[in-house]
Amino acid sequence: MTDDFPSVEELRASEKRLVGDYIELDDGEFRCVKCGCGFRSPDENYKERLALRDRNVDDLGRLWIPLSMLVDDEMMFWEFYCPDRATRITTEVAGDGEAIVDDMVLDAR
Ligand SMILES: [Zn+2]
Repeated sequence: MTDDFPSVEELRASEKRLVGDYIELDDGEFRCVKCGCGFRSPDENYKERLALRDRNVDDLGRLWIPLSMLVDDEMMFWEFYCPDRATRITTEVAGDGEAIVDDMVLDAR
């Protein structure tokens, strides 16, 4: 991370209308708060516009409970990044062959 961008704390304290930590509503458009790229349409899953990093959940480090203790299926950790500046917008845990969860509709209407 560079010093060119505001911190999460600075963004939360600002007048920007934020969805989570890194999506802002700006003039009717949802954008990455760091680079301003737009990535939504109310008719599609916004995650489909983001870059996806697929990681094995067991490789995340010792702060994570090994999911193999909880479920039999192999689980993946998906990180969704802004395609311009690689800001991690959101994450999701999924099993093999599962579809990306459509968990939020970004609709400014
Ligand atoms: Zn961005």
